[in-house]
Amino acid sequence: MKTVKDYIRTIPDFPHEGIMFRDVTTLFGDPRGFRLAVDQLLHPYVGRRIDKVAGLEARGFILGGAIAHQLSIGFVPIRKQGKLPGNTISQGYKLEYGEAVMEVHEDAIEAGESVLLVDDLLATGGTAEAGLKLIEKLGGNVVGTAFIIDLPELGGRKRLEDLGMDVHALCA
Ligand code: IMP
Repeated sequence: MKTVKDYIRTIPDFPHEGIMFRDVTTLFGDPRGFRLAVDQLLHPYVGRRIDKVAGLEARGFILGGAIAHQLSIGFVPIRKQGKLPGNTISQGYKLEYGEAVMEVHEDAIEAGESVLLVDDLLATGGTAEAGLKLIEKLGGNVVGTAFIIDLPELGGRKRLEDLGMDVHALCA
């Protein structure tokens, strides 16, 4: 039987020479692969209180939307700066070269809500940490973080675990 990893392809030299890009569109495009990924991402959180799923732009939207639908709860997009139409709060984070800002609507999460944070891939953990901080700034409790791929050599898992986060990933 195929595993989640079997549905993911690696594209060399994208977006820059020397980068091996993990392309999950082949996983999303396969009905069995997509279902398997959503079910496995959810597995550790079954039976736990989750009020909302937050997804990181952009592939976290696809996964997070499917997970939220499965749980019959709401979805919260965490987006790159300037994309959300309502009042937002912002969080800066470091990229390999330079800095970026993520935003969330200020009324997207209520204080005390339990939130599952989702993205396709964990590398340095900078993006996920920005998402985590935004949720916490709104008073939300992050019950866990879920990723399809974890690249542990880039330090993201340790970074999130050092912040006390539960990190759930399906493959490396
Ligand atoms: P980090 O902030 O260094 O952990 O990078 C993670 C972010 O970069 C996530 O939002 C990913 O979607 C994106 N990312 C980095 N490398 C890849 C890749 O190889 N495939 C898909 N997404 C990637």
